[in-house]
Amino acid sequence: MGGCDGESTNVCIRFFINLVRWLPVVFVAAIVGWAYYAYVYQLVFLAVESIPLRIIYLLVFHILLLLFVASYYQTIFAPLHKPPQEFYITRECTDELNESSEDSQQSEILQRFVHLQGLPVRVRAFEGGVRYCPKCKCIKPDRSHHCSICSQCVRKFDHHCPWVNTCVSFHNYKFFILFLGYGFTLCLWGALTDLPYFIEFWQNNSVNNRVVFGQFNVVFLFFVSSMFCLSLGCLFFYHLLLTGRNRTTLESFRPPIFTHGPDKRAYDMGVSRNYRQVFGSNPILWLLPIYSSNGDGINFPSRLESFEAVRLLDCTDEDEDDEDFFNRIV
Ligand SMILES: [Zn+2]
Ligand SMILES: [Zn+2]
Repeated sequence: MGGCDGESTNVCIRFFINLVRWLPVVFVAAIVGWAYYAYVYQLVFLAVESIPLRIIYLLVFHILLLLFVASYYQTIFAPLHKPPQEFYITRECTDELNESSEDSQQSEILQRFVHLQGLPVRVRAFEGGVRYCPKCKCIKPDRSHHCSICSQCVRKFDHHCPWVNTCVSFHNYKFFILFLGYGFTLCLWGALTDLPYFIEFWQNNSVNNRVVFGQFNVVFLFFVSSMFCLSLGCLFFYHLLLTGRNRTTLESFRPPIFTHGPDKRAYDMGVSRNYRQVFGSNPILWLLPIYSSNGDGINFPSRLESFEAVRLLDCTDEDEDDEDFFNRIV
């Protein structure tokens, strides 16, 4: 009976924690809902008098809003990519690890497993061994990390974002950048189109109560959109910079370690190729919230590897075009 009570208490606690984690998303949805009312009804229908201006305001606002909501939805609900099955260690390997007491012995067991499975891992742990997650019981693929909030290892982990209640990683990085970009543009549009009416409010003091309420929405809309424009803009340009350098947020603070030591520029293949890894090869899909990233989140072309390969090709086939070669491997 007591065990059953304990179990139901745990279920209640987990349910409560899950509920709390959705609060930032509910907050964003509530802000977007109120901003829609303030912009469309209070600003465009009640404050803007020119019909052509109303049409332009509504058209641009709705296109940006649609792209923003779709990117936000995709960032939240795109399925998280775990490491592939072959990265999870076998029962025999787990038993061996449990029996061994020394770190060096455990490191050897894991190294042997990686070798037998032929796993493409190059990134090393701080002490130089294979990176292993004891919680998921798996070898961590390059650029993967364990997220303690999502309780799993995640491919090309960037950070866990409470505003989307999930990890920002390989599976949704393009959507996350689009969410920031469209959020920034939408807020900028809102603030700029609201600005004349915001100024008018401070100049006009002879108003009745109904107008005061409407104007309060218009004034508050300017403050909210300016504030979000600034914060989303900073994050957006920071992630554009990181994408251009092919670094995750985590890697920008802690460079990946290889057998030759830490190398923060290891995955930097040049701005254009770095962007194509995240946004894909088809320009039509770049700005749309449709999945188009290149790669599998396990194998990443590395700068040093390419230089080696190009040098090798130079010796064997002189007609090979370096640019074509890079395009193929990125
Ligand atoms: Zn893990
Ligand atoms: Zn997470």
